Amino acid sequence: MKIVEYERSLQWVGHLLCPTCQHQNVGWRSSGMSEAFPHFYCSHCSNVFRRQSDQHLVYDEATPTLLAQIVATLPACPCGGHFTATAGPKCGSCHAEIPLVNDPVKHLRNPNMVLLDGACSCNDDGAQYQVRIVD
Ligand SMILES: [Zn+2]
Ligand SMILES: [Zn+2]
Repeated sequence: MKIVEYERSLQWVGHLLCPTCQHQNVGWRSSGMSEAFPHFYCSHCSNVFRRQSDQHLVYDEATPTLLAQIVATLPACPCGGHFTATAGPKCGSCHAEIPLVNDPVKHLRNPNMVLLDGACSCNDDGAQYQVRIVD
């Protein structure tokens, strides 16, 4: 699989604090200008799913109806889990879920996608690339 490396010093590389064990998970976060929406995390791992056709649906507004329509078509993750509207990334130390999605309808238009070190960006064709944070 393709690997995309981000240097630790980059502006969009930061830490996501695990509320359960306080571990600082290093990862890449897409900017507000990235239009990386909608994106969905896996129920079991930190992989993220995103596809352009969903963006067309919610570009003007996000509604519970659109959320239900998109969620019904979200695929399984390559890890065996499933992409869902409410999952968050998982802590690399204790594997607890790190809650990022408070309101799944609002989240449809959230451009700040978090790819933790080792997570894959996926679409309907499977995992497209894996993120690695390097020094
Ligand atoms: Zn943790
Ligand atoms: Zn997964």
